[in-house]
Amino acid sequence: MTLDEAIQRLEDMRASIPDNGVYDELTAIIRLITPDEGWPQECREERCSYFTHYLRYGPPDLPHAAYHAAERECDEAQKQYEEYCSAEDAFPGVTVTATKERLARRVLRLEKEVRA
Ligand SMILES: [Zn+2]
Repeated sequence: MTLDEAIQRLEDMRASIPDNGVYDELTAIIRLITPDEGWPQECREERCSYFTHYLRYGPPDLPHAAYHAAERECDEAQKQYEEYCSAEDAFPGVTVTATKERLARRVLRLEKEVRA
């Protein structure tokens, strides 16, 4: 069983677990005893942005791994948008508004997803 599967199984039982910190404690224990599976140290110790940022804004809509994937995608989209804007500044008059708007929408969607 992977860490995400274990967390998902626990999440499925969440409604029947009293809301007194037991769920969070069980989640932390599962993370600590699950073999590394390539997770960075800060993820295993709950010091990464998922725990220090994302969960501060409410219960998760994304599991841990999916959050980091969305976070990487968001960084990439922001970079593409910035590059597009720089190119636009360098070549005024050759704006392709549709592309810029598409990139901007993508950035906004991803920023919302990762609660940036
Ligand atoms: Zn993490």
